[in-house]
Amino acid sequence: TQACLTAIDGAGALNAFVHHTPEIASQQAAAADTRIKAGDAPDMCGIPLGIKDLFCTKGVPSQAASRILEGFKPEYESTVTSQLFDAGAVMLGKLNMDEFAMGSSNETSTYGNAVNPWKADDRELTPGGSSGGSASAVAADLCLAATGTDTGGSIRQPAAFTGITGLKPTYGRVSRWGVVAFASSLDQAGPMTKDVRDAAIMLQAMSGHDPKDSTSADLAVPDFEAALTGDIKGKVIGIPKEYRMDDMPADIVKLWDDGTAMLKDAGAEIREITLPHTKYALPAYYVIAPAEASSNLARYDGVRFGHRAKLAQGDGITEMYEKTRAEGFGPEVQRRVMVGTYVLSAGFYDAYYNRARKVRTLIKQDFETVFAAGVDAILTPATPSAAFGLGEMAEADPIQMYLNDVFTVTVNLAGLPGIAVPTGTNAQGLPLGLQLIGRPWEEAELLNTGYALE
Ligand code: GLN
Repeated sequence: TQACLTAIDGAGALNAFVHHTPEIASQQAAAADTRIKAGDAPDMCGIPLGIKDLFCTKGVPSQAASRILEGFKPEYESTVTSQLFDAGAVMLGKLNMDEFAMGSSNETSTYGNAVNPWKADDRELTPGGSSGGSASAVAADLCLAATGTDTGGSIRQPAAFTGITGLKPTYGRVSRWGVVAFASSLDQAGPMTKDVRDAAIMLQAMSGHDPKDSTSADLAVPDFEAALTGDIKGKVIGIPKEYRMDDMPADIVKLWDDGTAMLKDAGAEIREITLPHTKYALPAYYVIAPAEASSNLARYDGVRFGHRAKLAQGDGITEMYEKTRAEGFGPEVQRRVMVGTYVLSAGFYDAYYNRARKVRTLIKQDFETVFAAGVDAILTPATPSAAFGLGEMAEADPIQMYLNDVFTVTVNLAGLPGIAVPTGTNAQGLPLGLQLIGRPWEEAELLNTGYALE
C-alpha cells in the first residue's frame, strides 16, 4: 500500500486517480496486517486496489466523472466494494473514467482524460475507455488491480489498450447495487488485473448473489482460481468469420492467427463458426444503451444529487432542471440522452427501440446456436486497433469512436462472459489483446482458456 501511494504521488501526469484516499488505505492496510497476523487472511487481504469512480464508496466522492455529481458523497457502499473490503482489500482512491461510462477513450471525463503509460514515438495515447483510469493505473503499477465496469466493452477495450487482463462477467454474476447505472440491462462490473490468475481471485471476491439487485443471480460461485489448470485439451474454440473484417489491420490479423495457433498447440480443436447477426450489433447497442441511459439519467435533476445551476430571478423548476442538466452533463452524455429519448418516443419506439430489442434476441440466439453445437469458447480480437492518440478521435464523427466497440458489444447484448488477455504487440510495440467469449456462468472455464492463452 505504501509503495502504491508513493507511485501514485509520482504519477500525476497519468491522471488515473481522481480522488485520493490515503487515510482509508492506511487504515485498511493496518486492519489487513492484523488479520494476516491472526491467520485470517483471505486472498484479497491487504491488496491495494483502485476503484472506478462509477462505484459508490461511502463518504468518498463518487462522481461517475461527471460535473453533475460534483460534491456527491454516498451514504452507502456498493456491494462490490463492500465485498472487496470485507475480503481485506485496500482502497487507494477513485479512478478516472468516461463520464457515466459513456466513451471509449476516457476523453469525456469531467476531470480530463487519463493517459496510457504506453507511448508511441512520444505521442500520448488513450488508455481506452470507459475504464481508462483503471487500465492506466494497473498498467503503470499504481495499484495491484482495479475495478472496472463494462456496458459495451469498457473493461475489455482499455485492458487491451494497456496490456492488462480484463474480465466482463456473465450478466447477473456481480451485483450492480451501488454502481451508478448507465444501461442497466448491459452493465456488469469486473476485475482489471495484471494477469488471469489475479482476475480469477478478484472475480471470486466480487461475485455472488445480492438481494439488493433484482437481476443478481442466485447461483453458487465456483472456485475460479482452482479452475486454472491450463489444460484445454479437446476444448472447441470457435473462430467467428463475421469478425474477420475486410479492412482489418495486418497486426490484428496476425494477433488473432497467433492466438488461434497457440490454443491449437495446447490441444484445443479450432472450428470456424458463424454468428450471422454480428453486423447489427453496434446499431442495436447504440439504440438500447442510450435508451436505458436516458431513463437512468433522469434522476439527475439538480434536486437529489450533486450540482445545481445558479438560477436567475424568475426561474422556475423547469429552468432549474434545464440549466442544471445543460451545465452538469458533457456533450457525449447529452447526445446519448437525446438519442435515447428519441428512440423511446411514441412515434419511434417500434421503429428503433423495439427493433433493436429484436436484433438483440437474434444476436443472443447466434451464440446459443454455436454453444449448443459444442463450441466451448469463441476467440476474437478485443479491439480493431492498438491504442490511438489522445485527441485523434474526440473531434471526429462520434460514430468513429463507436466503431471501437465492434468486437465487444455483442457480449453485453447476449449477457455472456468475456475476457481480454494481452497476447501480443503491434509494429510499434504497443500492446494488443485477444478476447475470449464463454458460455453463461462459465467464467471458470473461460479463465482457464485465458490462462492457456497468456
Ligand atoms: N464505448 C461504449 C459506449 O460508449 C461502451 C462503454 C461501456 O462499456 N461502459 O457506450
